[in-house]
Amino acid sequence: MKILIVEDEIALAESIENYLKQEGYLCELAYTYAKASEKVNLYKYDCVIVDIGLPDGSGLHIIKELKKNKSNAGIIIISARNALDDKIDGLEIGADDYLTKPFHLSELNARIKSLIRRRSFNGSNEIICNEITINPDNFEVFINNQMLTLTKKEYDMLIFFLSNKNRVLTKESIAEHLWGDNVDLLDSYDFIYTHIKNLRRKMVDKGGNDYIQTIYGTGYKFNINI
Ligand code: CA
Repeated sequence: MKILIVEDEIALAESIENYLKQEGYLCELAYTYAKASEKVNLYKYDCVIVDIGLPDGSGLHIIKELKKNKSNAGIIIISARNALDDKIDGLEIGADDYLTKPFHLSELNARIKSLIRRRSFNGSNEIICNEITINPDNFEVFINNQMLTLTKKEYDMLIFFLSNKNRVLTKESIAEHLWGDNVDLLDSYDFIYTHIKNLRRKMVDKGGNDYIQTIYGTGYKFNINI
């Protein structure tokens, strides 16, 4: 799960980043409107946490840009106390939730989890796909009720596939989603192959189906109609 944190108070942005990293999220930071705008136009996120008052622009415009790009990201506004107009404007243009500063990081985390569940998995606490059951709160995966031990990257990859079932995912989008925006500095995405190979093997070893298809020259597809 990849999260963009748009916040110009550097100490707050970093404390959010540290907390969410410990919770297992991949985080990117933008301290300015310009940087946030660049990132939302180049990359995809599962969730964007956006402060409205930025030194060089309004976070509301970031929300507008996400909507214009038809982004699937969940959007949580974090803004100053008494900024009721910002809250109403933000929710009207498509933000999903709103937190008033100061807030507890555990509350932000709970809102993110519920938002991602609502958006990607129809609000369920468990993600179920045929013989696969995932409990995202504990990062547990079961195949036919047997626990599957995955690395963090394999787990994130499985979640990414399950939230994009039957869609072709390019190697670039998988790399970006799992390793973050700096991955575009690499000249090859071949390292993904090893992770996919291991994930497939572990699932098949537990008696699961081999859902992940290689789409030659493009990427991979989690095909649940096999
Ligand atoms: Ca601010």
